[in-house]
Amino acid sequence: MLSSSPISRPRLAPRPASAPAPTSPSRARLAVGGGARGLVAGVRCQAQAGDMDAHYIRRCVELARKAAGHTSPNPMVGCVLVRDGQVIGEGFHPKAGQPHAEVFALRDAGDSAENATAYVSLEPCNHYGRTPPCTEALIKAKVREVVVGMTDPNPIVASKGIEKLRNAGIDVRVGVEEALCLRLNEAYIHRMLTGRAFATLRTTLSMNGIFINQIGSGADQPGGYYSQLAKEYDGVIISSEMAKTTTLPVSQEAGAKQPLYIIIAQGESSKLHIPSLDEETAANAIVLSDSPVTVEPAGVGVSVLDQMNLDSILQLLADRGLCSVLVDFRDVGGCLASLLNRFQEDKLVQKVVVELSPVWMVSPGPNNLAFGGSESFPLKNVERREVNGTLLLEGYL
Ligand SMILES: [Zn+2]
Repeated sequence: MLSSSPISRPRLAPRPASAPAPTSPSRARLAVGGGARGLVAGVRCQAQAGDMDAHYIRRCVELARKAAGHTSPNPMVGCVLVRDGQVIGEGFHPKAGQPHAEVFALRDAGDSAENATAYVSLEPCNHYGRTPPCTEALIKAKVREVVVGMTDPNPIVASKGIEKLRNAGIDVRVGVEEALCLRLNEAYIHRMLTGRAFATLRTTLSMNGIFINQIGSGADQPGGYYSQLAKEYDGVIISSEMAKTTTLPVSQEAGAKQPLYIIIAQGESSKLHIPSLDEETAANAIVLSDSPVTVEPAGVGVSVLDQMNLDSILQLLADRGLCSVLVDFRDVGGCLASLLNRFQEDKLVQKVVVELSPVWMVSPGPNNLAFGGSESFPLKNVERREVNGTLLLEGYL
């Protein structure tokens, strides 16, 4: 579980992702009365300043990720306060309804925030939501400058936060490690720009390219890729067939919030029994059906859709506050294949994750994934990863 104060201790020296930082920033708190012995801003050359900006924004992203799976519909945000080359405060947004990253970092820094540089992975907000605007908190704390990873695409923020800070005389730099910050909140940004949840298609293939209807051993154990996906995604779309016959996906990661189960029931008989749900966990699942259906256990929400298509499902999920959803594809002949029929042309799936299973599969039934569009297409930014012995290929559409 996340602690009430989302500040990690002990403070470990952050390591830059690529090249070492020009000067290793000391993470010790400023001694009372000053005495900073780190870099002095006045003597830093511009190149060094740029490197340090990137270094601290990467730390912001690292902090932000601590709340993966908890912040929707809000973005993940991290904040670092630095004065005289020393980190004096850190924070991240732990979950929707709780204070934002900047507030935690300012609390952590206390009075020493005056004249500090605030690094924040996403533009500070400038509106009254469930919490007061972070721009006001930064201005009140008298920070000297603010370095922003990327602007917030949310129309109620969209550069107004930056404007407000600049109008208050604070020096603001924008667009540091922007690609990393975009990637961090790809689901939030997608939802903001399209009104749909960001969808990732997951499946498993054998060494000879045959579809496999189950995940590999260890994948759903702590540290396994599936357990991690279940933690990071707000929801998992599965077929009613899978819900009837398999245990629903559960993340085994420490502190994980379990995803919402979105069960697609198409052409289902009037009764649907989901054995791995009980009355306590029923509220964590919804059934989307094309005809009225009684679901056991009671307590599972049922929505009968006029049109059973992925577009309306992803809009419905976005309206419920979900930013990201994993489409867990485990049966070729089932109803998910028809939902996915034109996912490329209709731009409904943003990412594909394929698990490669070290097995040569002989399959008597239907076994290929010939859906998605009318023509073949290449995937972008393809990466291969090995997680706990499982080989994964990931790519974007
Ligand atoms: Zn804020």
